Amino acid sequence: MIKIENIVKSYRIGGEKLTVLKSVSLSIKEGSYISLRGPSGSGKSTLLNVIGGLEPIDSGGIWIEDQPVHSLKDHQLAKLRLKKIGYVFQQFQLLSTATALENVMMPLLSFFSSKMVKENAIEALKRVGLEHRMYHLPSRLSGGEQQRVAIARALVTKPRIILADEPTGNLDSETGHNIISLLEEIHQNDGVTIMMITHDNEIAERAIVQVQILDGKIQEYFTSSVLE
Ligand code: ADP
Ligand code: MG
Repeated sequence: MIKIENIVKSYRIGGEKLTVLKSVSLSIKEGSYISLRGPSGSGKSTLLNVIGGLEPIDSGGIWIEDQPVHSLKDHQLAKLRLKKIGYVFQQFQLLSTATALENVMMPLLSFFSSKMVKENAIEALKRVGLEHRMYHLPSRLSGGEQQRVAIARALVTKPRIILADEPTGNLDSETGHNIISLLEEIHQNDGVTIMMITHDNEIAERAIVQVQILDGKIQEYFTSSVLE
């Protein structure tokens, strides 16, 4: 369960204060599948980043299960992210000098023995159908394959929540739909909560809960009555 209550988030640029999230509240059930739409600059990425504790908020509260994200210290946030949250980004954000396997091992390496981390990473790569590309550098993989590696990297910590910021934004439509099918399969089989930003209406409408943001406010909150 993710609970967001009246969050306000602003950035300071020069002397100006830019309020990006204007009292946003949202309740996300465990195992939910949420899409988040809105024009460019409306605050979508900011919302995802504050949920994951990557950005502080001005006021309001965010709770993941029973943990108050807004008041955790850095080391507590790092632990929460490691245990509960996986991120997937539009630009994949893989380390270009590391193989697919090394990229997937990365989140766990400083915490566990490398043998155990390697086994887990291979398992995650199998999960996304890429064990045959383990030793490839990102530049030797297609866009869709790079995003699969990024999803494996998100899965390797066995998260309960996946936050995806326009995961298909850099992919052609067929490859994008394959990535969405993979995320949907992870949601259905593992009960992982997925919150995904997308510009693609067709993709957004496949989610159980659809949210729209306009100018830092939640505009529409639609729960599919068939699936709920
Ligand atoms: P979206 O993902 O919906 O396109 P963002 O959440 O990235 O929008 O950004 C919302 C607004 O906040 C934009 O006007 C953007 O310029 C501004 N913004 C985002 N990140 C920062 C930052 N780190 N510093 C200052 N302004 C920012
Ligand atoms: Mg964005």
